[in-house]
Amino acid sequence: MKIFHCPGCRADLYFDNLACSCGLEVGYDPAAQSFTGSQHFCANRDSIGCNWIAAPDQPLCESCGMTSMHPDLSVPGNEMHWARAEAAKRHVLAGLMRWGWFTAGDSGPRPEFHMLAEATSQGAVDVTMGHAAGLVTINLAEADALERVRRREMLGEPYRTLIGHFRHEIAHFLFERLSGRGSFLADFRALFGDERQDYRAALARHYADGPPPDWQSAHVTAYAAAHPHEDWAESAAHAMHLTDLTDSFCAAGLGLGDVIAQGYDAFRDTDPARLLDRAIAIGVAMNHVNRAVGQPDIYPFVNTAVAREKLGFALGWLSA
Ligand SMILES: [Zn+2]
Ligand SMILES: [Zn+2]
Ligand SMILES: [Zn+2]
Repeated sequence: MKIFHCPGCRADLYFDNLACSCGLEVGYDPAAQSFTGSQHFCANRDSIGCNWIAAPDQPLCESCGMTSMHPDLSVPGNEMHWARAEAAKRHVLAGLMRWGWFTAGDSGPRPEFHMLAEATSQGAVDVTMGHAAGLVTINLAEADALERVRRREMLGEPYRTLIGHFRHEIAHFLFERLSGRGSFLADFRALFGDERQDYRAALARHYADGPPPDWQSAHVTAYAAAHPHEDWAESAAHAMHLTDLTDSFCAAGLGLGDVIAQGYDAFRDTDPARLLDRAIAIGVAMNHVNRAVGQPDIYPFVNTAVAREKLGFALGWLSA
């Protein structure tokens, strides 16, 4: 993520900022990928703190406009959890827009989101996260930090975050968009396997027996070994993580010896293998920094050559 500037005083602004320290109320313009003092703010600004601006003829910004169902706001906590989830979604969408997805130049379909809580005024309901035919369902229970950590430990997934959920589910959506393009499907099947194999049976097997003991030899995470569709979603989500990690590192003015030149734009790198080398070097360095203050590793994964090849494939197609 870039660090932005106030249109009034040029001070630094961060992606979630609603106002500058100079007092100016600001909004993020997703088309210009910069902040503006324009007053046509998204209608969700006061309720959930959305800081994007809306198109002149629309009440909602582009991100909020993709959400067709939100949780029952009469239940305490739901509005705050929804706000956190929308913030993560904006972050993920802004990254994808750097590659051209969902911008004015992209005439393809957009994903639709159902942001649902398990607690409703009618009682508790089951909410299954997932993607089906363009619709992404997000379970807002995981916007609660305690609940997310509980599920993270229970499922053994060290990278269970809201941003991670959005990247994973949107990756499933983008698979459908990419599958009609050029050699994507044939190349995908050669590397990840045939995604037409029985999905339900594969998932049931994964949850009953766990991943194969050698999952690490060819997969970025244990869950990626469940089915080629999940392998894609995990690989593509990690490709997004690693690109944003590198971009944010550079935006903060940090350097890493002569590994990264000043002004490097990770989103414009046309060499996926080179970007991955840099991102993983940053991950190793940042892990070391985090350990200094007792924080968990920023990138707690070791990627084998095959997993790297899958990450490179995902990066190449996401950024094409
Ligand atoms: Zn300012
Ligand atoms: Zn909005
Ligand atoms: Zn999935």
